[in-house]
Amino acid sequence: MTQIDAPQTRHPNQLLAEELRRTRLAGGLRHFIGGQWVDSQGGATFEAHSPIDNSLLTTVARGDEADIDRAARAAHDAFQLWKEVGGAERRRLLHKIADLIEARAGEIAVLESLDTGQAIRFMKSAATRGAENFRFYADRAPGAGDGQSLPAPGFLNYTLRQPIGPVGVITPWNTPFMLSTWKIAPALAAGCTVVHKPAEWSPVSATLLAEIMDEAGLPAGVHNLVHGLGESAGKALTEHPLIQAIAFVGETTTGSAIMRQGAQTLKRVHFELGGKNPVVVFGDADLDRALDAVVFMIYSLNGERCTSSSRVLVQEGIYDEFTARIAERARNIRVGDPLDPETEIGPLVHPRHLEKVMSYFGAAREEGATIAAGGERVGESGNYVSPTLFTGARNDMRIAQEEIFGPVLTAIPFSDEAEALSLANDVQYGLAAYLWTNDLTRAHRFAHGLQAGMIWVNSENVRHLPTPFGGVKNSGIGRDGGDYSFDFYMETKNVAISLGTHKAARLGVGTPPVVTPREAGE
Ligand code: NAD
Repeated sequence: MTQIDAPQTRHPNQLLAEELRRTRLAGGLRHFIGGQWVDSQGGATFEAHSPIDNSLLTTVARGDEADIDRAARAAHDAFQLWKEVGGAERRRLLHKIADLIEARAGEIAVLESLDTGQAIRFMKSAATRGAENFRFYADRAPGAGDGQSLPAPGFLNYTLRQPIGPVGVITPWNTPFMLSTWKIAPALAAGCTVVHKPAEWSPVSATLLAEIMDEAGLPAGVHNLVHGLGESAGKALTEHPLIQAIAFVGETTTGSAIMRQGAQTLKRVHFELGGKNPVVVFGDADLDRALDAVVFMIYSLNGERCTSSSRVLVQEGIYDEFTARIAERARNIRVGDPLDPETEIGPLVHPRHLEKVMSYFGAAREEGATIAAGGERVGESGNYVSPTLFTGARNDMRIAQEEIFGPVLTAIPFSDEAEALSLANDVQYGLAAYLWTNDLTRAHRFAHGLQAGMIWVNSENVRHLPTPFGGVKNSGIGRDGGDYSFDFYMETKNVAISLGTHKAARLGVGTPPVVTPREAGE
């Protein structure tokens, strides 16, 4: 078993982490409700641990139904004011939030690494990306209510959009800061108020975000934060009658539970769920670039990434050499302390997740696949695994069908385009897909056939904020990004104004009814 070397000297990030543990985390994390930092009404707490060594990081207020109710009421009251705040003022406030995120990006990145185990090299850009999300939606706030003009004979129809009301945002433990901003920024830009329930395995950065929004001057109750477990605080949020919609990012099975829980109150839902995303590599592709992208899209962010390309489908003829090159790269990846800037893979978020990821090493052996790289735990404390490649796999194996959500890649050979497409689509998920070929016609044809919400051709995942983000099949419902987010956080209303020229139907005037289709309301 490989060991994680103890750092010889303390890196500045590690020194900052120690200081933040003493100053920011020692007192515990509280809810932020109606502009106040509060404990749970029942006084309950839970513990958050650092995946670096599973030591206690902090205690966290454990919200339940009563805390959610308080937060939902605060969001409901604040909505009456916030929906009237002009777009220019919302724009100003959201830019101010972005400024403060940028100013505290170093602190956010260190705390996020400490809490999630994600390597600091990626967390620095994740914090900056959070600021970009706020800026993007800040600039769209003034136009969020814009609609269309749809004239008809004798009528002027116009649409306008209005914020739906208080919304619940439920986020997962992977890259929690960036993902939270991705939901909260458009909600606020639209004029909605928010109750945020972050994941219990990584609650720290949500507290920072609440602090930043408060410091930026967001009115009390516009953004509320309730920590707690999914089955209590999360469930109560999805069932609360004052909450109009739930924006959820997490596992597919949790999405199903939320749909059931929200049925009674007819919640509008937006789901970003799991994935088992294929990267398809044809023999005619630029194989050096494809190799970089394949390695990056599974081993960056510890593989704990919804858009990770966790199945690589490689054309026969290049399969042996290409997978050998992946294995070589995987063996060279630096696993270590996430706060070290040299580290490429940090520890997995939680011992339970470590156990889950490692269970697939056994599954691969039992199913007859080959472990071409990795496949073992690294070190004895902390949740480290080695970057892993399974070769000789079939698409019907569990390692090819189930979302492992770790630095674990399953390689499958294919003979031709038809087989590649069939393998790519033969999973319950359909979030992202990646395609490598230099045949232009095939690229278009294949992209049209792929069952996925997002497809990148000859590229890793490069996000452009105005484009739609989301999945098909069991990977989600709805789209985020650009104007698509406003479709979720807003209601579209149509106003029909008569020009006074249409013939109105008349009843009770004693003449035989001659009803035209228009009068019948068709
Ligand atoms: P999870 O579903 O276990 O938890 C997500 C959130 O839901 C947490 O805050 C949790 O407390 C809450 N929750 C759990 N049960 C609940 C319930 N019954 N009612 C309401 N809330 C409940 O997911 P996770 O393990 O935290 O995150 C990993 C998953 O997230 C992976 O499947 C990954 O693919 C997915 N994910 C998807 C995207 C995407 O854009 N599609 C992005 C990131 C992560």
